[in-house]
Amino acid sequence: MTFDYDLFVIGGGSGGVRAARIASAEGKARVALAEEYRMGGTCVIRGCVPKKLMVYASEYPGMIEDARAYGWKVEAGAFDWSHFRSQLEVELTRLENAYRGTLKNAGVEVFDQRATVADAHTVALADGRRVTAKHILIATGGKPFIPDVPGAELGVTSNEMFHLEALPKRALVVGGGYIASEFACILNGLGVETTQYYRGAQILRGFDDEARGHVSTAMQAAGVTIHCGTDILRLEKTAGGILAVATDGTEREFDLVMFATGRSPNSRGLGLEALGVEFGRKDEIKVDGWSQTSVPSIYAVGDVTDRINLTPVAIREGHAFADTVFKGEPRQADHDLVASAVFTQPELGAVGLTEEAARAQEPIEVYVATFRPMQTLFAGRQDRVLMKLIVSTASRKVLGCHIVGPGAGEMIQLVGIAVKMGATKEDFDRTVAVHPTMSEELVTLRNPVRRG
Ligand code: NDP
Repeated sequence: MTFDYDLFVIGGGSGGVRAARIASAEGKARVALAEEYRMGGTCVIRGCVPKKLMVYASEYPGMIEDARAYGWKVEAGAFDWSHFRSQLEVELTRLENAYRGTLKNAGVEVFDQRATVADAHTVALADGRRVTAKHILIATGGKPFIPDVPGAELGVTSNEMFHLEALPKRALVVGGGYIASEFACILNGLGVETTQYYRGAQILRGFDDEARGHVSTAMQAAGVTIHCGTDILRLEKTAGGILAVATDGTEREFDLVMFATGRSPNSRGLGLEALGVEFGRKDEIKVDGWSQTSVPSIYAVGDVTDRINLTPVAIREGHAFADTVFKGEPRQADHDLVASAVFTQPELGAVGLTEEAARAQEPIEVYVATFRPMQTLFAGRQDRVLMKLIVSTASRKVLGCHIVGPGAGEMIQLVGIAVKMGATKEDFDRTVAVHPTMSEELVTLRNPVRRG
């Protein structure tokens, strides 16, 4: 049987674009890709990239304060949100065009419309056309999940945060994960009176307990009001804003309520159910280590599979799929020891096991340094940095590293290499410090603070 394409990719985000490019340019396959919105996906258009630019924008007031402490005669002045928003749009358009250029140069045919799956080898385009493909890759990502509380429609999600007409005076962020905590810091930095409600006992569940506590304390010291053990019962429109009725008995008014209560895979309505593609409990598409679904011609990568929902992971999954199927180089994406960073202020960088998980696994030694970094100490700030290594007592391997402080995201990328290589505590110790830096503390940790 002959097909119109060797590969049809649905979704132009990080995973889909990488798979399409490699399959076409290196695998010499005939490839098409459909995207119903803007090219680049969540990461580029409404996630990591605009978020990080907002983080940068929100850090300037603190920097200007520090600059004054260093002797500069400067005033912060007012923040012009509409100027920032239009500059952000220019940058996103530039990136979107870069993605389009990459696909074009690789010889991928792009359809700017929605596509669904009609059968195991047929894609139905929104304009009524049908095309066939030997393989179909689902890379449709995820979408914000909003809890089913009365008045939820009065709230927004991270999708809308980049398009606000104006910054609110009072904002409530609901949730305690990556997105909630990052946006609470961004809004606070931009001068918005910010409150965060989280239903659990401590924000950033899943990260190392000590690191979570450190971030939470620093966020509160910087001005974010965090209420743990608190959830929304209902939202009501009022003359002055939105009234949030909470489980702790409080009723408070805000100008903006943002739900950052998790994301769900964008897997339904694509026609996959009728073909017998298997789904998991959270609606994720079930795949094996090769990213293959229960229908052999259909593969899936990225957030729609809910493995590790990070852009670099989706890219690796897309690349491994293309290498395997189109280049004859069978390779599975490696999901072990993936480092990540939460761009709160201060940042949290982590790789490997938390102290809690490591202790449950085997006997460990815990090394911790907390200190006030030179730059902000001089400016009179109280900010403290946390550096933490979890070491296996038996093998001496560093099982986990957790950093809270400025540049933690950059630092953990490099520590990630050492941990991935299986470095021991003694390997860290025989590495000479770079002075004066914050990260030198990682190679000068002398005595364990705890054993367990
Ligand atoms: P997370 O899973 O990190 O956090 C979701 C939060 O919402 C949790 O605090 C959760 O509480 C809470 N929640 C879930 N359901 C409800 C509910 N019904 N009512 C109240 N609260 C609820 O998801 P995010 O949306 O923040 O981020 C999604 C993913 O995107 C992340 O897991 C991450 O992989 C990725 N991401 C990565 C970033 C980075 O690398 N810097 C930045 C942003 C996102 P509980 O803990 O109790 O379950």
